[in-house]
Amino acid sequence: MTIDNIKTVAVLGAGTMGNGIAHVFARSGYKVILRDVEQRFVDRGMDTIGQNLGREVKKGKITEAERVSTLERLLPVTDIANVAAADFLVEAVPEKIEIKRAVLGDADRLLRDDVIIASNTSSISMTTLASLTRRPERFVGMHFMNPVPVMALVEVIRALQTSDATFQTTMTLAEKLGKKPIAVNDAPGFVSNRVLMPLINEAAYCVMEGVATAEAVDGVMKIGMNHPMGPLELADFIGLDVCVDIMHVLQEGLGDPKYRACPLLKKYVAAGWLGRKSGRGFYSYGEAGQSKSASK
Ligand code: NAD
Repeated sequence: MTIDNIKTVAVLGAGTMGNGIAHVFARSGYKVILRDVEQRFVDRGMDTIGQNLGREVKKGKITEAERVSTLERLLPVTDIANVAAADFLVEAVPEKIEIKRAVLGDADRLLRDDVIIASNTSSISMTTLASLTRRPERFVGMHFMNPVPVMALVEVIRALQTSDATFQTTMTLAEKLGKKPIAVNDAPGFVSNRVLMPLINEAAYCVMEGVATAEAVDGVMKIGMNHPMGPLELADFIGLDVCVDIMHVLQEGLGDPKYRACPLLKKYVAAGWLGRKSGRGFYSYGEAGQSKSASK
């Protein structure tokens, strides 16, 4: 499958990442088959896309006519059989190997042999996922950042088996979405989480050891290092449970104790303080967003 033959893209999963991925493909002129397991999940994903496109019109990023045509290119479905029409597929289903295995099996069976399958996994080995398909050389990682319509980076991850042609097509496709693809080899955490998560973890240690408050740690990184968000604000945004899970992946995959998750992070997760999504993490969140620092 060459880049010019890719007209229709299937996206599996209409959650946080899937609806964003469907959004950017449709906005760039691709027909998108957006599949989730239940109608209410597909509807929720389409609602989010509708709201985000509306915001882009208000900000002058797209015209009203582009909003309407983008929505017309989206086909929300629950029946997996619909993905057979796709020329490229991105899976964005939950981060559980059993779910990925089932979905990849279906996709592999239904898609034409020349179609590339991409995974948006943040932590599962691309080489392992590729080996679950009958097309490992046409398997690749496409790691979008959240929120997908806003963030420019796509880590394009080569599994051990990924062919040069698959890799090149995927890099070019990411560029056609207006993204900035960066090539990375398959390794635990890729580059993004390998570098970011230890930073967040160390920031949590600073709070735990009383080196500074959460606001002070974030202030140092924002004012002193020009980070747009402090590491602890960012951890709350990502979800502290997700951060702990990724630290475990790094520790297990790389076998180095320096990747052990900070006990304070684990304690917050045990308390149900997961960050923004639960209303409290390093900070407390009210209706008006960030309000005050959470105590130890
Ligand atoms: P999510 O839970 O928001 O969405 C997953 C969606 O997949 C749900 O709507 C669920 O109903 C659906 N689903 C479950 N089984 C399915 C199936 N068989 N077919 C189709 N849909 C199915 O999860 P998410 O945050 O969007 O994460 C998806 C993937 O993206 C994960 O692999 C995650 O690691 C990765 N990722 C997440 C982020 C992030 O910030 N959230 C960033 C980068 C990568």
